[in-house]
Amino acid sequence: MSFDVTHLEVPVPQVDELFIAWWEATRDHQFLVQRCTKCNGTQHYPRAICTGCGSTDALCFISATGNGTLYSFSEVLRPAHPSLRAPYVVALVRIEEGPLVLTQIVGAASNDLQCDQRVYLKWLSLDDGRALPVFTITSEFDEYSHFRTHNGG
Ligand SMILES: [Zn+2]
Repeated sequence: MSFDVTHLEVPVPQVDELFIAWWEATRDHQFLVQRCTKCNGTQHYPRAICTGCGSTDALCFISATGNGTLYSFSEVLRPAHPSLRAPYVVALVRIEEGPLVLTQIVGAASNDLQCDQRVYLKWLSLDDGRALPVFTITSEFDEYSHFRTHNGG
């Protein structure tokens, strides 16, 4: 039995004050990372305080390159929301700038993945113009829809 999910609304992330600049940059497919000008540490997600030195007035945003390595991953067989089609892969990616990012791997099955593998940033468009950062294992991978899986299912 097939189940048509294309009419379901995907829950869209809510934005609080700290995240406004970060989310606005996703409209231009820019992944922002906070950098501290006092200790030079980086962090993701955005916070009001530097997790390295405790500074509250030295944080700025830099643009991430979009390159990273796969730190850990897990295949989800039972989706967290009916609009999501399983299986899909959630992952922790260590981006070049240092922070770990909780994300999704697209265009690859969990059998294709191994830790420390190079991964590349891609964007998943949201209806309101923002985008979600996801990663894939090949820089050439370009086509993805939230409602399709790698095997066309
Ligand atoms: Zn700092």
